[in-house]
Amino acid sequence: MTEELNPFKIAQQQFDEAAKILGLEPAMREMLRWPRREYRFTIPVKLDDGTTRIFHGYRVQYNDARGPTKGGLRWHPDETMDTVRALSAWMTWKTAVVDIPLGGGKGGITCDPKKLSEGEKERLARGWMRVAARELGEHRDSPAPDVYTTPQIMAWMMDEYETIVGRSHPAVITGKPLPLGGSQGRGDATARGGVYTVREACKVLDVDPHGAYAVQGFGNAGQYAALLHQEVLGGGKLVAVSDSGGGVYNPDGIDPRAIVDHKLKSGVVKDFPGTKPISNEDLLELDVNVLYPSALENVIHGRNAGNIKARICCELANGPTTPEADQILHNNGVHVIPDFLANAGGVTVSYFEQVQGTYNYFWTLEQVHRELDEKMTRAYHDVLKMQKSMNVHPRLAAYLVSVARVAEAVKLRGWV
Ligand code: GLU
Repeated sequence: MTEELNPFKIAQQQFDEAAKILGLEPAMREMLRWPRREYRFTIPVKLDDGTTRIFHGYRVQYNDARGPTKGGLRWHPDETMDTVRALSAWMTWKTAVVDIPLGGGKGGITCDPKKLSEGEKERLARGWMRVAARELGEHRDSPAPDVYTTPQIMAWMMDEYETIVGRSHPAVITGKPLPLGGSQGRGDATARGGVYTVREACKVLDVDPHGAYAVQGFGNAGQYAALLHQEVLGGGKLVAVSDSGGGVYNPDGIDPRAIVDHKLKSGVVKDFPGTKPISNEDLLELDVNVLYPSALENVIHGRNAGNIKARICCELANGPTTPEADQILHNNGVHVIPDFLANAGGVTVSYFEQVQGTYNYFWTLEQVHRELDEKMTRAYHDVLKMQKSMNVHPRLAAYLVSVARVAEAVKLRGWV
């Protein structure tokens, strides 16, 4: 039988396992295994060549029992309703695991932003906001950046929203540039939160944080992971990095700052001086202390999980590991810090951004880091405690923590 790779089916499968262990009643299970609301949009955009193209966009509000829905917007050629559904489910478990008063949502547009000009991107961002605005707001649902969306895109969207509603409304969207009400520390928050959990895992497992580490995927999360691993943990040897154009490897170590600069200049990590090429697949199987999958879904699956040698796998991407691979990694003693725990730093600082924007008073970088560390460290240990007491793999433990919290809120509201 071939492995299931539809992310939404995987998300439901993961949830079902947790629901069974928690003994959730049938109505609660049905409530939590589906999104509450989903929207599909057509977005007409005038291209630079004078023609009009219709883009397809989405927003899914998965569950708002614990608070208004929250989650990013991905712009990717492979975006579908099912990827957005899965990602919105994972956002629900993510906000619950770090215990912030928000639900989970996600959105996206099927497009290849690398082929769009700045003007086309702006018109697409504003076009998405024009059709989605009536469903949004900080008390309903608020978007943020995700794969291939940036603070500039958030700025255009916020401006469009404020133009529609006719007043200032900074908390409708997060991940904004600093001069427009962004938060200190939002840019690197996803990676930083992940590195905090790696720090805790190294202590618990007695793994040397100064050993080798590798980063698969070199967008926002991957680049900051490469830098922050050394900054936060006081050392470590970056041996390999990859992006969609291929990877580079040097067993003697790669300077993280230099390779980030190379990527920002050339758009790829390929041909970084002093390195040998390595494929994305081979990078995942390197003998490292910490592996950071930081790109897209399903890169660790039933066929390669047995070859993963990392001691700790910190999932900065959403959904990088299939259920079959989870079991194999667990049996082989690979400590997975599951995605919706490992990458919860982004939405946690988004929540701080909303809090600051709402009372219109902004925190220092030190305060953001302190509060983020507290939330991530507590969440890591909540999951670890569950893992030990229930004797399950870390992802299932994280599900047990989160699903129980969301189910409690659903119950208290009297929905089920
Ligand atoms: N897109 C990020 C995530 O997957 C951040 C979401 C947010 O800040 O709302 O967690």
